[in-house]
Amino acid sequence: MGCHRFTEEELAELERRFPRVVTLPTERVMQARSDWEGRAVHAKSLGRRIPAEVVARELRGRAKLLQPVEVLPMAEGVLTIRFGSGEERAKAMAVAPWLVGGQLMSIEDWRPDFTPGVHSVSRTVVWVRLPGLPLEYWDNASILEMVAAAGRPLTLDAVSSERRRVGYARAKVEIDASLPLVLGTLVQWGKNRFWQAFVYEDLPSLCYLCARTGHQAGECRFCEAEGRSIPMVNGAPGGSSSSTEGNLPGGSRPRVFGPWMTSSRFPAQ
Ligand SMILES: [Zn+2]
Repeated sequence: MGCHRFTEEELAELERRFPRVVTLPTERVMQARSDWEGRAVHAKSLGRRIPAEVVARELRGRAKLLQPVEVLPMAEGVLTIRFGSGEERAKAMAVAPWLVGGQLMSIEDWRPDFTPGVHSVSRTVVWVRLPGLPLEYWDNASILEMVAAAGRPLTLDAVSSERRRVGYARAKVEIDASLPLVLGTLVQWGKNRFWQAFVYEDLPSLCYLCARTGHQAGECRFCEAEGRSIPMVNGAPGGSSSSTEGNLPGGSRPRVFGPWMTSSRFPAQ
């Protein structure tokens, strides 16, 4: 396929075979980069692909942007999105999670020399629910500490922080959607201990064997690669790593993954 990053060694071999070099003026490249740096992102739908014009229209509407949004389709389903300015980009980032055309989007900062298929787009802001959380644990600090097991905690929703809805708390978390989902966390105080489950809103097609999104159990290529036990690694930057057993194809251990792990957006708010 067209997307391959050559190593230094391979480049030396190419240079030997094809000695001609095209030299570009540095200012031209730097000028071109400055048109993107700070006001563009790379984005990718975790589910169905969404047409560029729909992404542009919905983002502009939701973030109330004043200037047009350019959306350029690249290979591998990646979109490069350029906003009118750094401020417009910040306004768009503030309305994450990006649910566009009903699909949750992963978003990465624009980077120079980005190559789809070589560089991944998997950082995803998502709402995480804590179903059944007893009220005495329902304070901002405790909830944010719990969801830190899932990824980088960003904020609580207003309803949760004001305790206006009982049933589940809800927090905005940045996760790496290429890693297995963290299904919950053990919480301890004194000699008491309980399991607090996490439910992820709007994540599509979750694999019940490896807890990753983007494929179904029937097409899972991680179970074999990872052997009989499926590690649940929290790969969030700075996060602690913990591991627990997932579902096993043989079924000799209790099933812990299932359809309860995701939910669509709750209707009444
Ligand atoms: Zn899988």
